Amino acid sequence: MIDQAIMEELKQKLLAEKARLEKNLSQTETENPEADREYETKFPEVDRDEEENADEMEMYESNLAADETMKGELEKIEKALASMENDTYGFCANCQKEIPLERLRAYPQADTCLDCEK
Ligand SMILES: [Zn+2]
Repeated sequence: MIDQAIMEELKQKLLAEKARLEKNLSQTETENPEADREYETKFPEVDRDEEENADEMEMYESNLAADETMKGELEKIEKALASMENDTYGFCANCQKEIPLERLRAYPQADTCLDCEK
């Protein structure tokens, strides 16, 4: 079983990470379309070349990918927090063994042990 004080420490980490991700997500979702629209209206006469468009597309796609990653992490954090509430936190979702504390400290939203993640 995980010590209560350590559990609290991990919970604080999860909550901090959750707040950080939520902030990042709201930024990428609202800012990007706005910035694009502004650019269009300010410089309607500028004929943007292919390369620039490709670059923008790439940036957009990597933003999307980053968003997906962050959403995935958020889900894990939610699950970890929920499992703390019902005392099932810290067990591997795959082999049901206890996840080593070192791993939880480095990555508190882990839901599998290192062996199962491979
Ligand atoms: Zn496992």
